[in-house]
Amino acid sequence: RGKRAFIAGVADDNGYGWAIAKSLAAAGAEILVGTWVPALNIFETSLRRGKFDESRVLPDGSLMEITKVYPLDAVYDSPEDVPEDVKTNKRYAGSTNWTVKEAAESVKQDFGTIDILVHSLANGPEVSKPLLETSRNGYLAAISASSYSFVSLLKHFLPIMNPGGATISLTYIASESIIPGYGGGMSSAKAALESDTRVLAFEAGRKHKIRVNTISAGPLRSRAAKAIGFIDMMIDYSLENAPLQKELSADEVGNAAAFLASPLASAITGAVVYVDNGLNAMGVGV
Ligand code: NAD
Repeated sequence: RGKRAFIAGVADDNGYGWAIAKSLAAAGAEILVGTWVPALNIFETSLRRGKFDESRVLPDGSLMEITKVYPLDAVYDSPEDVPEDVKTNKRYAGSTNWTVKEAAESVKQDFGTIDILVHSLANGPEVSKPLLETSRNGYLAAISASSYSFVSLLKHFLPIMNPGGATISLTYIASESIIPGYGGGMSSAKAALESDTRVLAFEAGRKHKIRVNTISAGPLRSRAAKAIGFIDMMIDYSLENAPLQKELSADEVGNAAAFLASPLASAITGAVVYVDNGLNAMGVGV
C-alpha cells in the first residue's frame, strides 16, 4: 500500500508545503492538505480552475492529485477554543470542522490512518517589529501559530498515524543565530519548534514508533516570506556567502522532506536537517 500524507500549510503553489506535497506525490504518496480557513476559498477555486496545473507537473509528466483539501486553523485545538468573533467572521462561517482536533477526526473518518504528517505553517503578527518592540500578545501569537500548532497537530494526529510513520516541520536558522529583521518572537518560535522536535521525537518514538524531524530551510520567496519584507536581501546574502552559490529551489526542500519521510531515513529522528546550500556552516562571509 502507498503512503498517505497530511500536509498542513498549503494555500498556493509558491511555498514549501506545495513543494513537499509534490515530492511526496512523486514518490507515490497520496496527498491530503490542510489549508488555512481564510485562504481556503481562493485556493480551492484556483485549483479547480487549473491555475496551478503547470506547477502540478511531476517528474514523470503526470499531474499531482490532491485527494482532499481540509480547512484548518492550527491556532485552535477544539471548537470550545474559538472566540465568537472568529466563529461569526464571514471568512470562517462558510467552513466547518477546522480546529485541529476536528480536522484529525475528519481525516480519520475519511481515510482511517495516515503515514506522514507535515507542518509547513507559521505566523507572527509582529514579525516586522524587533523583539524589543514586540508585545506580549504578538510574541504569544507567534508561538501559538508557529510552535504549539505543531505540538497540537502531532497530539491529535498521532493516534491515527501508522507505526513507522514520520513527521516533518520547517524551521529557520534565526532560532540559533542573530537574523535582524526576523522579529515579533518568530526567532523564539523557531527555537521552541526545534527544541520540541527533540522532545517529541522521544515521546512519539517511544509511544508510537513515529519519527520527528525538522528541516532548517534557506530563504524562499513564498507568500509568508514576502510578508516579512527582507526576503530578497536574504536570498542575495545566501547567493554571495553560501558554499553553494545558487538560488535554493523549493523542490530541493521537498526532496529532502520526502527522504526524511521515507524508510531511507528510518534511523533519523529528533534532527534539525539543514537544506540551505550550506549557509549554516559559514562562520564569516567571504
Ligand atoms: P507559505 O506562505 O507557503 O506557508 C505558510 C502557510 O501557513 C500559509 O499557507 C498560511 O496560510 C498558513 N497558515 C498561517 N497561519 C495558519 C494557521 N493559523 N493555521 C493554518 N495555516 C496557517 O510560506 P513558507 O515560507 O513556505 O512557509 C512554510 C514554512 O517554512 C513555515 O514554517 C516557515 O517559517 C518555514 N520557512 C520558510 C522560509 C522562507 O524563506 N520562505 C525559510 C525557512 C523556513
